[in-house]
Amino acid sequence: MAFEPVTPRVFTDITIRGCNPSYVLTSEGPVVVDTPQLPTKAIAMREEVERHGPIQYVINTEHHVDHIFGNYYFRGIPGKVIHHQGVYDNFMVSTPLLDPYDYAKEAIPMDDPEGAGIFPEREVYFRHPNKAQIVFIGNVTLHVGDHTFNLIWTPGHTPGQVAVHVPEERVVFTGDTVFSEVQTWVMASDVDQWVEALNTISRLDVDKVVPGHGPVTDLGYLQVQKAVLLEWKSMVATAVAKGWSRDETIERCHMRDRYPVDIGQEYMMDYIQKHNAGILWDKLSANTE
Ligand SMILES: [Zn+2]
Repeated sequence: MAFEPVTPRVFTDITIRGCNPSYVLTSEGPVVVDTPQLPTKAIAMREEVERHGPIQYVINTEHHVDHIFGNYYFRGIPGKVIHHQGVYDNFMVSTPLLDPYDYAKEAIPMDDPEGAGIFPEREVYFRHPNKAQIVFIGNVTLHVGDHTFNLIWTPGHTPGQVAVHVPEERVVFTGDTVFSEVQTWVMASDVDQWVEALNTISRLDVDKVVPGHGPVTDLGYLQVQKAVLLEWKSMVATAVAKGWSRDETIERCHMRDRYPVDIGQEYMMDYIQKHNAGILWDKLSANTE
């Protein structure tokens, strides 16, 4: 793992396939925010974090596979796994677009061949995927030693999305409410809620924003993220207004040249463009959003 210090007590790794797994060192022990998708990385992270003391909590910012699959490798920690009800309800649940277990598995040969031997069979995995022992709705605050963790419900990218605000460190972990300088997965997200989520996070008094993907950034980037979302929506709304079909919209509306796809998922570029445009077309043409 290549954890970089965000502050002297906050660390994140932006170099691996999957989300930016992170941890905070409190006076009582470490708190983990999101777990690595790749098995060997999850195990390496756990070893590194446990050198600082017993893990007090594992917090998941959202239910997407790249933020939760690694929970499996954090079974048996003394602390608890905590996430929003919306994460709990959608935890590794297949959708018409994606079987998250298969998606985690297909990454192994290319990105983590050494993880093949410790990748669980489907049945073994689902017996104990290490979902939360503590599930909440709304917001919740954890006091852990000398640190505070404000888990702020910020739905939009996903229904159970939370931002983890650590005031003592002047840091917020946003999950995929922020894609920093990489392609934004809009997909089935609620864009209007997402914009509100960005406004909520903008009002925090922080110096550092740890995004779900891409480099650590600051509050200024939230406006860039907002613009990308609204540009997607406006681009597809304009296509609908011109009477373009779904296929025509997918063909002509894209942001391929704007940003790269986050590390290890470069092959998903067409998939992202197609579904961002297609799903927005479905919503806007039916006027349901
Ligand atoms: Zn993600």
